[in-house]
Amino acid sequence: MKLSTKHSSISPSLTLAISAKAKKMKEEGINVISFSVGEPDFNTPENIRNKAIDVIKNISIGYTAASGMPDLKKSICNKLKLDNNLEYKEEEIIVSNGAKHSLYNIFQAICNPEDEIIIPVPYWVSYPELVKMAGAVPVLVNCKEENDFKYNVDELEKYITDKTKAIILNSPSNPTGSVYTLEELEKISKIAIKHDIIVISDEIYEKLIYDGEKHISIASINEKIKDLTIVVNGLSKCSAMTGWRIGYTASNKEIANIMANIQSHATSNPNTVAQYAAIEALDGDQSSIEYMKNEFDKRRKEMVKKINEINGLSCNMPKGAFYVMVNISKIIGKEFNGYKINGSIDFANYLLDNANVAVVPGIAFGSDNYIRMSYANSLENIIEGLNRIEEVLN
Ligand code: PLP
Repeated sequence: MKLSTKHSSISPSLTLAISAKAKKMKEEGINVISFSVGEPDFNTPENIRNKAIDVIKNISIGYTAASGMPDLKKSICNKLKLDNNLEYKEEEIIVSNGAKHSLYNIFQAICNPEDEIIIPVPYWVSYPELVKMAGAVPVLVNCKEENDFKYNVDELEKYITDKTKAIILNSPSNPTGSVYTLEELEKISKIAIKHDIIVISDEIYEKLIYDGEKHISIASINEKIKDLTIVVNGLSKCSAMTGWRIGYTASNKEIANIMANIQSHATSNPNTVAQYAAIEALDGDQSSIEYMKNEFDKRRKEMVKKINEINGLSCNMPKGAFYVMVNISKIIGKEFNGYKINGSIDFANYLLDNANVAVVPGIAFGSDNYIRMSYANSLENIIEGLNRIEEVLN
């Protein structure tokens, strides 16, 4: 039987494969330290959980408007105004089942077959696959470590063709933690306006940003770029709500309408209880975000310091999110205890099998000379895990 050609080429998530192996080892009683996770190790703040309990007890939980409850959209508009200096109307907001679902809607809404979408490498694992699922073509742009893994904005224009539909911007970035400056965003916005290209601005890590860096949404630069930008955000990372599945977009009304129609047939509304909880996350006490950020900051510094002390490993200081891209190019080609390291998958397996430490091979992000380590783990585990890595590399 001939199944969907478009979807047969979709790769499974490599990040999930390594975490599954690590999970199995843990279940077998092995003390695995995991640096592979993509979610905060903090529980959802109590006020948000209490709100959900209250809703379950006291409110009838039926369908809501397919693109999200008006009250939640109101809270999102307020947040965008307060945090990002962006004015959106409620009808320009679409609430979805996580930011990943928002991105799925976006590519379905904007892409025609053969359209090209510019993606930075290293990229978040799902971008190229989501683009392919919409029948479009990912155009991968190598972003150098020397440039903090960001687009070289002076060279970006050479990747634009008459098929370019959009460019993806992810600041702060998963997996690199890099953050774009206002000057860089201004240059990107000029290019987008000149060529009439959509900017998909994934801002899901916006509040996890360090060293006094400031998150700037490219949409806030001027009205022209705002009209071309689709802002993607959500509550998974900054409010520790990964399992609740609430993400959202802010865009012009034409794009929002198409996404609303797609979503209305694909899934109806995002989970009703989670939408009420999201209102509390946006309008309620924000101190847990500051607490989480300060904890991540301490771990970030410890992790980076220790990595750069280990023979063969090096990394930049990330400015946001909770990941470090570790350069392993000096390890590749070498042999440890009879184990030949030909690439990042070999290295990740070597660390898991010999040090009981889980990391994500960089090839999952398009960069085989790297591994990604997440510092969503305790300071104690970070120290212990890196000591173990140091031991098996000596
Ligand atoms: N965008 C980036 C850059 C991410 O790292 C993630 C999650 O790992 C998402 C989007 C999706 O987040 P969620 O679907 O949990 O809201």
